[in-house]
Amino acid sequence: MSSLTRARAYIGLGSNLDEPLAQVRQALVELGKLPLTTLHGASSLYASRPVGPQDQPDFVNAVAAIDTALSPLALLDQLQALEQRHRRRRLRHWGPRTLDLDLLLFDDQRIDRPRLRVPHPHLCDRAFVLVPLAELTLSLRVEGEPLSHWIERLDDQGLQRLVEDGPG
Ligand code: ADP
Ligand code: MG
Repeated sequence: MSSLTRARAYIGLGSNLDEPLAQVRQALVELGKLPLTTLHGASSLYASRPVGPQDQPDFVNAVAAIDTALSPLALLDQLQALEQRHRRRRLRHWGPRTLDLDLLLFDDQRIDRPRLRVPHPHLCDRAFVLVPLAELTLSLRVEGEPLSHWIERLDDQGLQRLVEDGPG
């Protein structure tokens, strides 16, 4: 597979149910096993307060960089199938979930479809996306501005980097 035909995509991962740390770690491995796709890198894991309803556990978040020959919509299909394999059920909007996979960026493409908007509409206002993304790349621009521009504008969202206790 030629690198010319592959896109660099960034995926936001989140979980706050059924051992969230294990859900996110497992999903990072699984992203690298998607068809026509390799895992390029993964951020540290973070803990964040929930967006929306507060009567639910904190989230574990991370961002992954992948290289893929899938189209954006085919990648979204794969991400949604992976969510299903983690037995995700959509109970209420912004409610608790075992695994949420958001397609944040797909090269420098802009996509505006009912099923898929890229860059992800909340990319620039969520610390749990921007901070791990900045671990993976600093050269990237979103809406014409470097990531540092968006990070400086964030209010305190209680984001905490989780210190890993060694391999495994
Ligand atoms: P949220 O991530 O906002 O909590 P969901 O994961 O339930 O909500 O996603 C709702 C819908 O968002 C999905 O059905 C999907 O088709 C759509 N969607 C639009 N753009 C994107 C994107 N960039 N990444 C993931 N899903 C997206
Ligand atoms: Mg989602």
